[in-house]
Amino acid sequence: MDDVVFYIVPLVVKPIPMLFRKFYRCERCSNEWADVWSAKCDDDCSRCGARHMSPYKSEDADDGEAADHVS
Ligand SMILES: [Zn+2]
Repeated sequence: MDDVVFYIVPLVVKPIPMLFRKFYRCERCSNEWADVWSAKCDDDCSRCGARHMSPYKSEDADDGEAADHVS
């Protein structure tokens, strides 16, 4: 008769979606900004309007600093 091994699964599941803080640098005017998204996302430069800037860096934003993009 085999021993039954019970795995204790942590029931602490965060209801918050994974957030990432994206760091952008405009290739046109060198404006830098950061934004928080729940997914990979390009952004537009707020200074010169250059479109679809890709983030050069991203990090977890799971520090309670809520994003205004996520309700
Ligand atoms: Zn720009």
